Amino acid sequence: MAFTLPALPYAYEALDPTIDAETMRLHHTKHHQAYVDKLNEGVTEDPSLAGKSLEEILAAISSQPKKVRNNGGGHWNHSFFWETMKPGGSKPVGRLAQVIDDEFGSLDELKKKLNEAGVGQFGSGWVWLVADGGGRLVIAATPNQDNPLMDDAPVKGTPILGNDVWEHAYYLKYNNRRADYLNAWWDVVDWEKVAERFEGVSQGTVAELA
Ligand code: MN
Repeated sequence: MAFTLPALPYAYEALDPTIDAETMRLHHTKHHQAYVDKLNEGVTEDPSLAGKSLEEILAAISSQPKKVRNNGGGHWNHSFFWETMKPGGSKPVGRLAQVIDDEFGSLDELKKKLNEAGVGQFGSGWVWLVADGGGRLVIAATPNQDNPLMDDAPVKGTPILGNDVWEHAYYLKYNNRRADYLNAWWDVVDWEKVAERFEGVSQGTVAELA
């Protein structure tokens, strides 16, 4: 069963002006599609991976070649990223809003720390808000297409929010100003989705990608 490129849950222009349509189109149809294609090649080359979910593969990624790591991470991260955003964004709700206040002091403080982690990630990578399974939230940054689901990640847990800090995610509109992109991105975060993921982690039921 080959991995496939998921459809976006909104139109390419729907996140404008935070993210322009051309960036979204290239990011989805070229970059994400390439991760899917190369992941499928990598899986075909290793019969022991047949039938495994992407989450299972990532949980034992330290034994895999770079091709499966980079493209398996790429497919998971981007599928997760599209679902983390929605036109117009939203605000944290329910227990998540309370835990953010308890752990970080305020939503603004969480944003500030995550923005700093994004600016501080040298080269390409991702920044994450991670639930550790014990009800706590931590911020993590990972290089390349790594993520906190990988068995050898320095900070392990279940991501509930993630932002792409590769230049291809922002360069057309923001050029080299990664900090401006990170700051603007909050306008399109779907916090209801993030809260739903947080509830899933608390209940021990982590949803797999479709
Ligand atoms: Mn990307």
